[in-house]
Amino acid sequence: MKKNLICIVCPAGCQLCAEKSENGEITVSGNKCPRGAAYAAKELTNPERTVTAVMNSDSQELPYIPVRTDKALPKNLINSLLTVIYTKELKVPVKRGDLIVSDFAGSGVNLIASRTVLK
Ligand code: SF4
Repeated sequence: MKKNLICIVCPAGCQLCAEKSENGEITVSGNKCPRGAAYAAKELTNPERTVTAVMNSDSQELPYIPVRTDKALPKNLINSLLTVIYTKELKVPVKRGDLIVSDFAGSGVNLIASRTVLK
């Protein structure tokens, strides 16, 4: 398996080529630092992203409240988390960092509020 990627770890945006051999060994080229190699290896084996979105709320102040995951979520779970986000309504008051969804789908990733909205 071979994949061409642009590294998103820093603004340099190195063009990477990651390849997984039949024995499972991963080789990465094009990276200017080890962080790029780690990113490419993760992309090849278990890609993850931090999810940010807005949720409907019953607030008079802010009808849509920003939320985010507290760490990166496996990409294959993102759509199901977005379904939860877009079908649920947050009840105010909500404080920044409040837990909205705990351990989503057993991933160990939580969804938290990104902003305080009191009414
Ligand atoms: S490989 Fe290193 S220098 Fe290049 S974009 Fe990634 S983090 Fe930045």
